[in-house]
Amino acid sequence: MHGTIPHFDTSAAAGGVLTIDCGALADNYRRLRAQVAPARAAAVVKANAYGLGALDVVPELIAAGCRDFFVAHLGEALELLPAVRGEHGARGLAQPRLYVLNGLMPGSEGACAAAGIVPVINSLDQLARWARTAAARGEKLPAVLQFDSGMSRLGMAPEEAGVIVREGLADSLDILAIMSHLASADEPHNPQNDDQLRVLRTIAAAFPDALVSFANSGGAFLGADYHGALARPGIALYGGAPTAAGKNPMRPVVRLDVRVIQTRTVPAGARIGYGGAFVAPSAMRLATLAVGYADGLPRCLGNRGAAWFEGMRLPMVGRVSMDSLIVDATALPEGALAEGALVELIGPHQSLEDLATAAGTISYELLTQLGRRYHRRYR
Ligand SMILES: *Cc1c(COP(=O)(O)O)cnc(C)c1O
Repeated sequence: MHGTIPHFDTSAAAGGVLTIDCGALADNYRRLRAQVAPARAAAVVKANAYGLGALDVVPELIAAGCRDFFVAHLGEALELLPAVRGEHGARGLAQPRLYVLNGLMPGSEGACAAAGIVPVINSLDQLARWARTAAARGEKLPAVLQFDSGMSRLGMAPEEAGVIVREGLADSLDILAIMSHLASADEPHNPQNDDQLRVLRTIAAAFPDALVSFANSGGAFLGADYHGALARPGIALYGGAPTAAGKNPMRPVVRLDVRVIQTRTVPAGARIGYGGAFVAPSAMRLATLAVGYADGLPRCLGNRGAAWFEGMRLPMVGRVSMDSLIVDATALPEGALAEGALVELIGPHQSLEDLATAAGTISYELLTQLGRRYHRRYR
């Protein structure tokens, strides 16, 4: 028979501790809002708030004053409904709104309308279905109209703006915003930004009463022309760099410390990890860490990435396994790194961007892959 499990530090039951700094998150929101003022700043919380936990992130952002939340799927919006339907009305504050970026899928119109979720309309067909839903319900339903200003991913063609206005296709709807998305906003000098801005301005002129929503994180730093009236930052809220070059103006939000599960000393010639992809050139002290590619650490970090401990860089040696990886701890004094110790993967010595670069990817991909196995601490 099992007895009761004695009280213990539950973080030790996981491979690592993912610390999310809610103060830094709120600061980043206020920083972005100031950056785009007098435009409003929404928050993009798709993919579980880029992996940080949307149910924890959304209330923090509401407290910081955010009232507009964008997700990718209707399912994500439905999961967040309880988090946004608070006592705001009673306190005289605007109810937060949820918007679905990926559009209005056939069959989801009734659920979307009943839940009061705002679809981003990406085609004339979606527009017609949403207008029919509004007519059937006898109410003016809210919508954002997305146009493709040059990314060729989502949204209606620029020419369709004229069709919508001439034929009154949106007359039964409350058009909250005209929206488009920048393809190269993280590159301030890329001429594509200006091309897209010109296309969007022509479209917006057809809807003089609607707000414009254009800037993502990068767009917020492109200058006032790009801000529109409702910015949609995502990655910068979570501490990622909004722009590829220069110093990152955002505060770090995520810290990742992972557990040492074994240490050993190996002689010269020892083969390390799967495939013996690293061979010790001399005697080495190794530490095996309790995280691997199942925890969102890309396999390509093998022989390239590093962990940090007390200011020392510990290079990853050999391949990354599913649940573990090995670092070279030779630079540390013997016994400095014991079983159960925590080493830094994301923190003051190695930023999210640093680790993403070592993995040949971007902060977005790294963050969204961090997965569910860490012990999470919200500060
Ligand atoms: C993901 C996304 C954003 C947020 O972009 P960031 O670069 O993370 O700021 C904004 N708008 C749309 C349409 C998106 O898909």
